Amino acid sequence: MIDLCAKPIHELRDLLRRREVSSVELTRAFLTRIATVEPAIQAFVSVTGDLALEQAAAADAARSAGEDLPPLAGVPVAIKDNMCTNGVLTTCSSRILANFVPPYDATVVTRLRGQRAVFCGKTNMDEFAMGSSTENSGIKKTFNPWDPARVPGGSSGGSAAAVAAGMAAGALGSDTGGSIRQPASFCGVVGLKPTYGLVSRYGLVAFASSLDQIGPISRDVEDAALLLNAIAGHDPRDSTSAHFDPPDYTSFLQRGVRGLRIGLPKEFSGEGTDPEVQAAVAAAVRKLEELGAVTVEVELPHSPYAVATYYLCATAEASSNLARYDGVHYGFRAPADNVIEMYSRTRSQGFGEEVKRRIMLGTYALSAGYYDAFYLKSLRVRTLIRRDFDAAFEKCDVIAGPTAPTPAFRIGEKTSDPLAMYLSDIFTISVNLAGICAISVPCGFTEDNLPVGLQLIAPSFGEDRLIAAAHAYEQATEWHRRRPPV
Ligand code: GLN
Repeated sequence: MIDLCAKPIHELRDLLRRREVSSVELTRAFLTRIATVEPAIQAFVSVTGDLALEQAAAADAARSAGEDLPPLAGVPVAIKDNMCTNGVLTTCSSRILANFVPPYDATVVTRLRGQRAVFCGKTNMDEFAMGSSTENSGIKKTFNPWDPARVPGGSSGGSAAAVAAGMAAGALGSDTGGSIRQPASFCGVVGLKPTYGLVSRYGLVAFASSLDQIGPISRDVEDAALLLNAIAGHDPRDSTSAHFDPPDYTSFLQRGVRGLRIGLPKEFSGEGTDPEVQAAVAAAVRKLEELGAVTVEVELPHSPYAVATYYLCATAEASSNLARYDGVHYGFRAPADNVIEMYSRTRSQGFGEEVKRRIMLGTYALSAGYYDAFYLKSLRVRTLIRRDFDAAFEKCDVIAGPTAPTPAFRIGEKTSDPLAMYLSDIFTISVNLAGICAISVPCGFTEDNLPVGLQLIAPSFGEDRLIAAAHAYEQATEWHRRRPPV
């Protein structure tokens, strides 16, 4: 049964369709795996065993009734705890939402229910998705399945760790500055950040609304395509949702990379990046060349400003989005004698350190005297970053580089130095600022047996290129088949 928990969704789908296993059996296997492994990994804020078994039984009944079921039917998946689930606790790993049970589903959750997917639980994250290690969770720390002394990455660390450790067949994460790709890279799984607007944000607890996107975390690229198929597409409930009719992403799996032009930005190689990461990424690019791709040098001259730009835009938006947590609308309320004191105590006690730091940074960047110097300027640099990509994509079809500058770092290593933590997202952030899409696929291991991720970046709505190239690479390598020791 343990074996089932190591299989990708597309294999589970086939087993379910051939009736070699029922969804209830499969779900029991995952719940048993969770009971065994979760004490060491701590990937979940809540495990929804009863709900999962109920959904599994319903999927089995539909199959027995002869219904033609979609690929995710009966397959246990995990959902990051910043996506609203009707009747199921949604904490955002924050004390301020510790008791929040949403009365509605996020659109992505509705879509998964529509496919009859099984929800095995809500995953741990950095509080309000602010962080790169899941250490900013107000609930608990999550441990990397490859080495429990290390972080799983973040902010979708729970989702990545759950998939890597076989506690869910696939998961949803959210990515504002790298939060799907960086934990996928740290945990040795696949993570895809869709183009801004491709996946609805309705029911995603907002962090930075112009950057946030939901996307899949999976064992392999085919599963990423299946999950993306389920969640992509226009949603009238999200005014930033694109009017774009998504193709069947699995139709690009076999397209290959012959003639594909891979751009190598010189800004992505060089100092600051761990030599083992550089070597693994360079070998991956050579593998893509062997498969028929060609490489070209490209420039992203404004990328040195990406981290600074992001930490102005993202904090400004966060300071506004988080104003709603006042002890009146939702969740936690601190007792006080008058309303002003109530607001102040609720927010002081309800938010963690990093969230408060971001609210202060963002409020400052937006304040009357500093708006032009900080927020407005960050918007201008953001445009320059977007134009860098436009120019680069005139010369190439995808851009390749590392997902993160290092493999998973040690727990506690960066907690006292927020800037060092922010730099963990140096290669992922500019993709969000430009609104384009990117994927992280496993491309090797360090001497310490820690996974390394290759990032491929494509222009807006270029997910087809990501899936084609990442799948071709994956099929020519074995990295995605390795399992963590847990
Ligand atoms: N690590 C980045 C941050 O702390 C990105 C987080 C994310 O993508 N949600 O803001």
